Amino acid sequence: MKNFELKSALELLKQQGLYRSRKIIDSPQGVNIKLDGREVINFCSNDYLGLANHPHVIQAFKKGVDQYGVGSGSAHLICGHSTAHHVLETQLAEFTNRDRALLFSTGYMANMGVITALVGKKDAVFEDKLNHASLMDAGLLSGAKFQRYLHQNVDQLQTKLARSTAAKKMIITDGVFSMDGDVAPLDQLVTTSKKYMAALMVDDAHGFGVLGKTGAGVIEQFNLTTTDVPILMGTFGKAFGTAGAFVAGSEDLIETLIQKARTYIYTTAMPAAITKATSASLTIIINEPERREKLLVLIKQFQQGAKALGLTLMPSETPIQPILMGDTKKALAISQKLLEQGFLVTAIRPPTVPKNKARLRVTLSANHSEKDVDGLLMALRKATLIK
Ligand SMILES: *Cc1c(COP(=O)(O)O)cnc(C)c1O
Repeated sequence: MKNFELKSALELLKQQGLYRSRKIIDSPQGVNIKLDGREVINFCSNDYLGLANHPHVIQAFKKGVDQYGVGSGSAHLICGHSTAHHVLETQLAEFTNRDRALLFSTGYMANMGVITALVGKKDAVFEDKLNHASLMDAGLLSGAKFQRYLHQNVDQLQTKLARSTAAKKMIITDGVFSMDGDVAPLDQLVTTSKKYMAALMVDDAHGFGVLGKTGAGVIEQFNLTTTDVPILMGTFGKAFGTAGAFVAGSEDLIETLIQKARTYIYTTAMPAAITKATSASLTIIINEPERREKLLVLIKQFQQGAKALGLTLMPSETPIQPILMGDTKKALAISQKLLEQGFLVTAIRPPTVPKNKARLRVTLSANHSEKDVDGLLMALRKATLIK
């Protein structure tokens, strides 16, 4: 390993304030978590609806284990696809108003599987510059001509599409951008995709469960159909509070993925108990719109408070409310000062975000109280006053 110079490369990361390390949590996920033996209020989880530790979800998971054991034993196409998996797929198809849905073990794998199954060397993919890393990796791995357009810039996308001579074209976007919290201009992307005969894929990891009247996500918020957005991907690790992901679309899309998506075929099916827990989350999401309403109230409260403090928020109406810091070390220092006051808000640094765009990524949960948000605002005031 001598030639790899690992130590000096690690040292360099430290000097640049880019070294990453893990915090060890010793409690269930939620608003109040235990970190290094100490209770803190958590403002950086993606558990937007507070379902990761919900009693119904836990109970469904336990019952699932009693019924199916722990491991699924094999891939879906061998003997790992249980009734519980199948039922969840049917429920997701109905919830998203699509022909069918297909489960994947993680969102990362869903994106890898779909994109590499649908496009190859003669084709082209067009991705928003701020798309999630898994979409970027999938686009690159597919072998298709890989083109990125400036964030939300539909004009530039159109120019690139107009010039493209690719056999198949695919436009790929996050529904809600994970580090910025803003929503993709889906109405314009739909029009553009139709004009240039490109397939549109939306990754709704952060919108699914949170946006739309019934919680069906960004597609519902924009009132779009399968014809508008043929490929929809969503995950369960965020608002659903469990783990895994799905792709929903036409009968032919799902059958194609079953035949061709390598991250579907060559991996062990997720434990059936996870699908039981996810079905329980879905029931809560459908029956308790008040969780989404509560989130909206907290978002407004946070935005107003942060503006009053003179903090720079980003143009987001979702539970992702980043505070722009710019400098990496400043973001780290303020995150540290918040932690000293009992609030966990992580600093997001390059390469996750562009250079000079380091930020504190505040995320809100329906389980936060207005008092929690007030507490965070007070802590932010203290942390940003002392330079
Ligand atoms: C979290 C996330 C993923 C990955 O999902 P996992 O299930 O955590 O692998 C994919 N896309 C986006 C936009 C995400 O935020």
